[in-house]
Amino acid sequence: MEQYDIIIIGAGPGGLTAGIYAGRQGTKNLIIDRDLAGGLGREVPAMENYPGFDNISGLELIEKMKVQAIQNCELHEMEEVTQVTKTDDEYQFTVKTDKDSYQSKTIILATGSSHQHLNVKGEDEFKGKGVSYCATCDGFFFAGRDIIMVGGGNSALQEALYLKNLGANVTIVHRRDEFRAQKHLQDMIKEAGINTLLNKTVEEIKGDMLVESVMLKDTKTGDLTEVATNGIFVSIGYIPHTELAKQLDVKLDESGHIIIDKNQKTNVDYVYAIGDVCVGLKQWIVACGEGAVAATSAFTDIQ
Ligand code: NAP
Repeated sequence: MEQYDIIIIGAGPGGLTAGIYAGRQGTKNLIIDRDLAGGLGREVPAMENYPGFDNISGLELIEKMKVQAIQNCELHEMEEVTQVTKTDDEYQFTVKTDKDSYQSKTIILATGSSHQHLNVKGEDEFKGKGVSYCATCDGFFFAGRDIIMVGGGNSALQEALYLKNLGANVTIVHRRDEFRAQKHLQDMIKEAGINTLLNKTVEEIKGDMLVESVMLKDTKTGDLTEVATNGIFVSIGYIPHTELAKQLDVKLDESGHIIIDKNQKTNVDYVYAIGDVCVGLKQWIVACGEGAVAATSAFTDIQ
């Protein structure tokens, strides 16, 4: 079985940064991702707060990070880690994937998160037929069409702006009377003339072959209204991927995120965690910083 000093599970911004740092320490390292590198970061339409770039898409930045990562670290894409177990050997972690098995002295969990679903009638049925979780991936098909964007956070408002820019007629539906998103995004929504429906929840998504309408419930009056639409984009947060963390008895907080200390250490020795799977601010720059810290901690701990 191939042996490594550090195995990083997940090749999002944090995982790739950990790989860059790990490689430069002179240790033997591997990043494994069940998909293409980038994770949900690939879906970000535009970032205006990543230092060094006025405006860059998630896909473009990930491609740059990936090129840099593979100069420094082995990367296996499209390989899924199915099990991580701990033994008493020096190479104490056995990482089993759908293709192979490896041993490592340390593990960095960079497993990210996936889209939260509405869990309403019609959502699964019309997925890919008008229901989408990714404006960057599917927005192109909705130019000149009516779209409902569900959510009130930074992602929902950013994606609404992206879709409007593509020429879609966007309405934001949010369950409360104020948005959670940063003020500058709220101002941009107003400036762009994007329609908003507040205090409304989506109760059902309807259609024949494709989405044709949504049933909205007013959270104050309970009234139901049917609103015609060609598409519904859902951007209501994320669920952390903690299956492997649980296999290692890594501690989670009450929201299901991994608890880490300032060195990105979990409660399990030689297991570190970074990025959206952890408690804390969900930002690229944070995930990257955490990746640098985790790789350095792992290196220090195995000296
Ligand atoms: P988020 O901040 O957690 O916001 C989720 C939104 O969805 C909230 O407005 C929430 O409503 C709503 N929501 C949750 N469950 C719902 C349900 N079942 N039905 C209807 N609405 C529901 O998620 P996010 O916008 O995806 O952002 C995730 C993280 O990434 C955040 O930390 C965010 O700051 C960060 N982010 C930052 C940027 C940036 O450039 N600065 C860009 C994108 C994302 P309530 O408000 O009522 O809870």
